[in-house]
Amino acid sequence: MSYCLRCGLCCKETEMLLANADIERLERKGYSKAFFVQFDSAGYAKLRNHRGYCVFYDTERKRCKVYRDRPLGCRLYPVIYYEEKGIDMDALCPAKNKWNREQIKEKGKKVIKLLKTIDEEAKQRYTNSALSNNTN
Ligand code: SF4
Repeated sequence: MSYCLRCGLCCKETEMLLANADIERLERKGYSKAFFVQFDSAGYAKLRNHRGYCVFYDTERKRCKVYRDRPLGCRLYPVIYYEEKGIDMDALCPAKNKWNREQIKEKGKKVIKLLKTIDEEAKQRYTNSALSNNTN
């Protein structure tokens, strides 16, 4: 179910983390990794921005160009994980009050699972790059 108002706020200056499955799915759709992925120094993969918005956000039509194949984090949004308080709705989302407790809890479990996967994948990437630096 989606209560999205298509305001585009969540796609503005995105910091959405990507799982390997997201990267592979979007590559299969013909997008190069260099176009949409940015890796940080700890090995995390994030969506790239272009002119202030996610590279996949169409600012004229106000929609996601890869909506059907969008990253899992985008699907689970506006439920996010806060360091201090855990799972909750993103305070920025104008549709945040439309979600009930049960829906938030259900999506929250998926967010936690996704973050675990993303953490493991980042750790693996970091280890692999450290190993290759040591052998060069
Ligand atoms: S992939 Fe789509 S939904 Fe996700 S941040 Fe980019 S434009 Fe928005």
